[in-house]
Amino acid sequence: MQLLEDRIRQDGKVAPGNVLRVDGFINHQMDPILMREMAKELVRRFANHQVNKVMTIEASGIAPAIMVGDCLNVPVLFAKKKTPSTMDNMLVTEVFSFTKNKSYTVCVSGDYLGEGDRVLFIDDFLANGNAAKGIIDLVKQAGATLEGMGFLIEKGFQSGGEELRSRGIHVESLAIIDSLDNCTVTFR
Ligand code: 5GP
Repeated sequence: MQLLEDRIRQDGKVAPGNVLRVDGFINHQMDPILMREMAKELVRRFANHQVNKVMTIEASGIAPAIMVGDCLNVPVLFAKKKTPSTMDNMLVTEVFSFTKNKSYTVCVSGDYLGEGDRVLFIDDFLANGNAAKGIIDLVKQAGATLEGMGFLIEKGFQSGGEELRSRGIHVESLAIIDSLDNCTVTFR
């Protein structure tokens, strides 16, 4: 998506460890106009799916997910990184964090995810696909159906995209990065 690629070129910063920082417009300070355009584009790309729920993982997936949920007029469910003692009917899975280099548990309440649900997962980044795999597990535990997975930015030089697509999942990414070598962003 040209708008996003231009913004990454303008305001993205490459950090050590193959990390792209987009905290001026996606991850920390957020640009709602860009966010809305990205949501509309994701909705367009999944137009042939019947989606009745958007899912994401806190925290940075929530902003794009709620914009997509708004466009689709469906609820948005985010997986929580802490397991609250008060949650009913809890479904739990384990996710390895690329940026923090450690595993953590995420959970959702089965009260909000069940057999009738057709889920579109939305997240800011796709790297090795660990967050996505955690969501696939939660959707499976709930007996729900995964309709697709949409990302703002895919790091095409990491394995997640290939793995998810080879499982037959409809994956869409608005900007695919082939390399962050020499602190330069190269798009596919
Ligand atoms: P994965 O689970 O696909 O390995 O990694 C995706 C998650 O890690 C995303 O939810 C995102 O928060 C974080 N992440 C992965 N790579 C990057 C990156 O280059 N920059 C930022 N800001 N976050 C990343």
